[in-house]
Amino acid sequence: MPVHLVDHPLVHDALVTLRNKHTAPEHFRRAATRISVLLAMEALRDMEMTATVVETPLGPAPGAVIGADVVIVPVLRAGLGMLEAILTLVPGARVGHIGLQRDEMTAVASQYYFKLPARLDEAFVVMIDPMLATGGSAVAALDLLRRAGARAVRVICIVAAPEGIARVEASHPEVRIYTPIVDRGLNEQKYIVPGLGDFGDRLYGTL
Ligand code: URA
Repeated sequence: MPVHLVDHPLVHDALVTLRNKHTAPEHFRRAATRISVLLAMEALRDMEMTATVVETPLGPAPGAVIGADVVIVPVLRAGLGMLEAILTLVPGARVGHIGLQRDEMTAVASQYYFKLPARLDEAFVVMIDPMLATGGSAVAALDLLRRAGARAVRVICIVAAPEGIARVEASHPEVRIYTPIVDRGLNEQKYIVPGLGDFGDRLYGTL
């Protein structure tokens, strides 16, 4: 199964705030931060760690530090709403950006920006795209990542639709998707129903 349902009470609490149509951008951003931390904790659970020993005031203690070369790739612009939260967990992560714009009429994604760090083949790559709707932009971004050498990418999203999951699975069966919820489906405008509306607009107050 490519989908990991992240079923934590705090995830669902943040998701209600995000879904609520009365949530103002300020509170929407905070809820996006909260849920992103929780989702990233799951997506990063099995990353490589390096054993270490740290000196406490009372002597040595064994521990482990991040050993993976983590690369976070937000899909612009909505993915930016999750980036800072994940960077607080992995401050040394490298960051790539993929800019995809969804045509409002056709829901087809076109690329307007693309910048990735080098040496992705050995990296632990996490793509962040909050709304997995048709899967069109996710697959386009994953194609770009694969061409750049990334392997076994993880995708974190906040709401997924069955259509998007199926499309990602068909094109990139090796990809793991982390989401708290799979909603009913898409409406005629290709928005997720019930979803939460346009994530980017709600994040930045551009409604
Ligand atoms: N993008 C969004 O922001 N919301 C949706 O429901 C679908 C795509």
